Amino acid sequence: MRVEFRPAAADAGVTFVRGDLARPVRIRASVANRVEAPRRTTLRSGGASVEMVEHIMAALGGLGVDNCEVWVSAAEMPGLDGSSLPYVDALTAAGLVELNAVRPALFVREVTRLGNEESWVEARPGTSGGLTLKFHLDYGPGNAIGRQTLSLPVTSDSFRRELAPSRTFMLKAEADWLLAQGLGRRASLKDLLVFDAEGPIDNELRFRDECVRHKALDLVGDLSLAGCDLVAHVIAYRSGHRLNAELVRVLLTEGDMVGGFKRSA
Ligand SMILES: [Zn+2]
Repeated sequence: MRVEFRPAAADAGVTFVRGDLARPVRIRASVANRVEAPRRTTLRSGGASVEMVEHIMAALGGLGVDNCEVWVSAAEMPGLDGSSLPYVDALTAAGLVELNAVRPALFVREVTRLGNEESWVEARPGTSGGLTLKFHLDYGPGNAIGRQTLSLPVTSDSFRRELAPSRTFMLKAEADWLLAQGLGRRASLKDLLVFDAEGPIDNELRFRDECVRHKALDLVGDLSLAGCDLVAHVIAYRSGHRLNAELVRVLLTEGDMVGGFKRSA
């Protein structure tokens, strides 16, 4: 499996290209191409799909890369260490180029909230001129994850430092269930953050609150399916990929699209 980031022209957006098919199929990274799949983000277009793209999308969105072709050699993206860090490192090593073009942004003008008491996500008008996030994670009592909250402005620096290294996590019961379903056999406890009542099993945390940081990373990836910058304050309570993507859909119809914001990367 190979993932290759190639430059794209201004306004091209982010497009996955399935280079392994007889004729390469292009799949635009847009919420319009998102199909519902459990625990992962799948995009489908032109009869082909790319799966588990969420941590690639987070890396591109977090670094502010809005024009890129992602050539891949299989439908399923590699899990790597469960974070966005390997992708961020690859993009950083390749170098990013600022294009002489305006960068469209979506301004949230009023409070938009989706979900219920169990889990919700809300977008408010931004006050920082960019995107700020607040994530509340609540795994309830009786486990080592518990409650964690994180607030941060999303810039390429803060993403790289605070979010990108945080890894996918799950409770032991969830991991056992996935194994029983025949999923995740290739993953070992070294590259999967699995929690029992005491803490991570055979692993060490990269941050004390690594779990909520990973939920924020996932949210950055989901929001980047808007295909443009978001000027908003997004607050999430126990939300996941499906609800986050639903918010993007609503914002694209209700928000205020403004061009000429800043240059594209
Ligand atoms: Zn994730």
